[in-house]
Amino acid sequence: MNNFLKFLKPSVDAFHAQDEIKKELIKSGYIELEENKKWKFQNGGKYFVVRDDAAIIAFTLPNNLESLDLEMSYNVVAAHLDSPTFKLKPNFDFEKSGYGMLNTEVYGGPILNSWFDRPLNINGRVIVKTPTGVKSVLVNLNKPMCIIPNCSIHYRPELNTGVKVNAQLDLVPLFKDRDSNVDLYSIIAKKYELKKENIISSDLYLSILDRGCIGGADDSFIIAPQIDNLECSYAILEAIKNSKPQDETVNVGAFFNSEEIGSDTINGAASDFLSSILERISLSLGYKIVEHKVLLANSFMISADNAQGFHPNYSNLYDPTNAVYLNGGIVIKSAARGSYTTNAMSMAIFMEICKRSKAKFQLNTNRSDVRGGSTLGAISLSQVSIPSVDIGLAQVAMHSSMETSGAYDLDELIKALKGFYKTNIKMVSSNEFKLI
Ligand SMILES: [Zn+2]
Repeated sequence: MNNFLKFLKPSVDAFHAQDEIKKELIKSGYIELEENKKWKFQNGGKYFVVRDDAAIIAFTLPNNLESLDLEMSYNVVAAHLDSPTFKLKPNFDFEKSGYGMLNTEVYGGPILNSWFDRPLNINGRVIVKTPTGVKSVLVNLNKPMCIIPNCSIHYRPELNTGVKVNAQLDLVPLFKDRDSNVDLYSIIAKKYELKKENIISSDLYLSILDRGCIGGADDSFIIAPQIDNLECSYAILEAIKNSKPQDETVNVGAFFNSEEIGSDTINGAASDFLSSILERISLSLGYKIVEHKVLLANSFMISADNAQGFHPNYSNLYDPTNAVYLNGGIVIKSAARGSYTTNAMSMAIFMEICKRSKAKFQLNTNRSDVRGGSTLGAISLSQVSIPSVDIGLAQVAMHSSMETSGAYDLDELIKALKGFYKTNIKMVSSNEFKLI
């Protein structure tokens, strides 16, 4: 469990989460491939590809590539690396009555109130000039750089009875006092040994400096920022890091950016990142496009994103027979309107994987009058249409700056994903699958 917190500590945004995953994969013998080069593979090879600094896809190839014919298939697990936060606008310097403020905009759907009065870090990437062009540098100041202070209760007693929070008026972080004349790019330039004048642009975000803890009686809860969805991302990393090359399956771990803003970016689940990587693997191994379609028909995808765990203080918000609980095991999500990819067939296949892996699971739907969220699974299916299931781990306070999940559930998910990566799922006919 502590290892999850170790992963979470530097993973302050999607850029740094990608970077942590990359470092761990390299330690486990994975080799980086570039999208703008031709690929050459080895039997049992382990590879990864990064797209635009904030998404990464890792995969292991089977042992005997020459003798595979049409027996090869893809076992994919996908998650997202981004979390709701605030992003600095391009002209972020903002003065209010002499105080130095930072002009930000909301990224995704955070619980706005939960961001008041917390020491906030600044992190992301800057783009710097090089002798021949431009390049990105990831930056994490890893210090309390700013704060969004609440109004005093004496001046605004209605704070305790409910007030609307205005993103442009109430949520501007306080960065410096009236006498200070430092500027953010100078601080970044100094820390990363850059020339300030070479910093051209940036994708900078706020993050919660307190990187979480294990708490509750029996240490049964994880209380931390960005649990949605770094918890599932960590489980995939653990499973694929330890997965051995299989006889017929290509094991894939896909980590996307931009789920919190709709996935419709160059490295979100709605991009061609996953479909392009799978196609390039098949083509590089000598398959034709029509054969690639055969391989896909024998493939399976798990979309892993956290789920709404039962909250005892708001018990009326949950479905009477399909509520899920912290430490109740992996959550299998389904919805009649198709916002999750799960159907009876993919649910049954995943349940069988859990049973074989001795991993606990529970079933979840929203109340019929609650719309609920959707996940990257359904979005990704529009690009790569393979049988899929939506799962996750139960948590409360989703999209708060500090979220809470069950400390024992993570191991159940790691067990199930390790089991999945050892399973070969084959379509026997359009209504029958076998699990080997
Ligand atoms: Zn999520």
